[in-house]
Amino acid sequence: KVRLEDIKRRFNNVTAIEDITFEIPDGEFWVLVGPSGCGKSTILRTIAGLETATSGKLFIGDELMNNVPARQRDVAMVFQNYALYPHMTVAQNIAFGLQMRKVDQRIVQERVVNVARSLSLEHLLDRKPKQLSGGQQQRVALGRAIAREPQVFLLDEPLSNLDAQLRDDTRAELKQLHQKLGITTVYVTHDQVEAMTLADKIVVLNRGRIQQIGDPQSIYASPANQMVATFLGSPP
Ligand code: ATP
Ligand code: MG
Repeated sequence: KVRLEDIKRRFNNVTAIEDITFEIPDGEFWVLVGPSGCGKSTILRTIAGLETATSGKLFIGDELMNNVPARQRDVAMVFQNYALYPHMTVAQNIAFGLQMRKVDQRIVQERVVNVARSLSLEHLLDRKPKQLSGGQQQRVALGRAIAREPQVFLLDEPLSNLDAQLRDDTRAELKQLHQKLGITTVYVTHDQVEAMTLADKIVVLNRGRIQQIGDPQSIYASPANQMVATFLGSPP
């Protein structure tokens, strides 16, 4: 599980997030939505350890994470502006996270093939990133993160650079991948359709605070306030 207890983060005098409390059960897919600047990335970066909470507690499993450095956390994060290693092949990019951890070569190869298969990349393993489409590159970035088999998968608007068709396809693949692997996932997006189709639970944020947490249908049908209704396009 991932548990946030009254997390707050201030930058100088600006409070980016506060009163952030929720618990994601193992294997669930949660989506954070809300307008620009509402604190989505700050929450994700706090879970990843790229940001330190000003106050509050963060648990992964039963372990308090506040003072655990990012690289010792069993999480993988994919950003909007993923960067693949241009001089490496697709296979080497996917394997990269594993090589660093001195995993046995045979297991590395096996995992690369499995990950590539689940993301429809198996025919592209020997190519370099510049020989791939944007959507294929983004799938490699997802593959590189997932190959580590992290306990928690964090995605910050991973599809926003893709055109509509690719976004739909990659979204569907992501959903399948989650159904297969069951990794606890926190996914940030601006896109209501992505939130509605991917989420077990949606967390709606505004101005650094949680507005509502619920499953997509109930949150859409009974928004807690006007901001949530407007944001999700609920019927009046
Ligand atoms: P977007 O949808 O535009 O990516 P977001 O919901 O991810 O927005 P955050 O990046 O989490 O928003 O930012 C939340 C608030 O914290 C914003 O007001 C932002 O300006 C502020 N903020 C974030 N990082 C810093 C920082 N390093 N220094 C100062 N203020 C910051
Ligand atoms: Mg952001």
